[in-house]
Amino acid sequence: MKYINEERINNLLFDARKADYGRVEAILKKTKTLQRLSLEESAVLLSVKDPEYIMRIFEAASFVKDSIYGRRVVLFAPLYISNLCVNNCRYCGFKSDNAAIRRKALDPSEINRQIQWLLRRGHKRILVVCGEAAPGGLSNIDYYLQAIGSVYAAQVGKHRIKRVNVNCAPLSVDDFRKLKGSGIGTFQIFQETYHDQTYRQMHIKGPKSDPDNRISAPDRAFEAGIDDIGIGPLYGLYDWKFETLGLLSHVEHMEKEFKVGPHTISVPRIEPAEGAELSFDPPHKISDEEFKQVVAVLRLSVPYTGIILTTRESPAMRDQLLSLGVSQVSAESSTSPGGYSDNRIPNAEFSSGQFSLGDNRTIEEIVASLIEHDYIPSFCAACYRKERTGEAFMRLAKPGTIKGKCSMNALITLKEYLDDFASEPVREAGYDMIRRYYSQLEHAEQEMLKSFFSHVDSGVRDEYV
Ligand code: SAM
Ligand code: SF4
Repeated sequence: MKYINEERINNLLFDARKADYGRVEAILKKTKTLQRLSLEESAVLLSVKDPEYIMRIFEAASFVKDSIYGRRVVLFAPLYISNLCVNNCRYCGFKSDNAAIRRKALDPSEINRQIQWLLRRGHKRILVVCGEAAPGGLSNIDYYLQAIGSVYAAQVGKHRIKRVNVNCAPLSVDDFRKLKGSGIGTFQIFQETYHDQTYRQMHIKGPKSDPDNRISAPDRAFEAGIDDIGIGPLYGLYDWKFETLGLLSHVEHMEKEFKVGPHTISVPRIEPAEGAELSFDPPHKISDEEFKQVVAVLRLSVPYTGIILTTRESPAMRDQLLSLGVSQVSAESSTSPGGYSDNRIPNAEFSSGQFSLGDNRTIEEIVASLIEHDYIPSFCAACYRKERTGEAFMRLAKPGTIKGKCSMNALITLKEYLDDFASEPVREAGYDMIRRYYSQLEHAEQEMLKSFFSHVDSGVRDEYV
């Protein structure tokens, strides 16, 4: 597979097992300076087995997370627009030879209704997700453009979706240009596995069977002007330490070629998917403890890259991973096209879901839980709208400047959410949080926030710094 030197990764992992605790201490000391770790250093931390040192890694990850991101956590919902697919990925419920599921591609009016439902719940950020095939003779790109247009066009009162990210199949540079033109934020694509042989065994049919075409998709997206890219492995297909170093090698490639790494890293674990046998018994299942170590080591390895966690994980696991470095979470998700409805039976609408979920809480329950754990729920999309993307974002993030802006925007968008959507107890808890954070701000920031809040009180929405 392009960009991935398996021999180097295996050698690093072999040597890391021999590293002594003096070496681990030195790396932990370096993490305090918020510098990016080398592949060798990440390999050492991934190989630590002593529970006491694992705890130290967790503490270091929490420190880095708080130093760069503060306490805010960004919320989003996926919108599955289609489960039609020409590929046959062995772990996925949408695979083409799965006759057990009902297939559906949403049309513009169905997308509009789904988004209206999400807007009424308070969502502001959407991740559009789909299989690799388009309905009704449309090309893939034309279908995506139509869908993204429908998402941005939907409106409920003053509420609209602020940012659409996309998780779709690899495209050509020309098609990526069109995608960029549609106003997307992040283009997300998971390599699934960075191990060549495993990749070929898992993707036996369709365009996805070419690992090089997939791993080079971010390069083409960059070339087309999309500079916020999200990548990730699908944990469970191959050894988790190898996958993490594969992912970090991919980051190195991006940094070398484009002077900026990925905007986000996702850490999906395989979940059971109806009709995809492999998903019930993944070949390299990763335990909860190992998974926590992965998230913490990623936080330390690439301090300035957002880490995304989805509702694949249980509420308890999500709470723990937040302190270890996760900065964005999905909320109230459905993985079936058309699955959002008031009866809240996950995946029970008129098509089948991709996999089952570990967290079926409503957005309000998730907001309440974040507040309870002292995280500021954020619905902000300011960076992308102020063109703080790619290298510009990293320049701001590195000295920690983004933390102040993010916290400020998080508090503004939290107040909007509380005023427009929250029940009384959640609103009260949220206001308490706002008061607490307000009192910690510098005088000038307090004045600025006061002025934003008075605008919110008078009905203005969607302001940001
Ligand atoms: N079809 C496109 C693709 O494969 O890139 C984009 C959408 S696909 C639905 C999004 C991601 O879902 C995949 O990249 C894969 O990592 C993840 N996925 C597939 N099956 C899964 C499962 N059983 N459990 C958890 N995640 C899964
Ligand atoms: Fe299709 Fe994506 Fe599922 Fe593979 S992971 S079967 S490409 S939807």
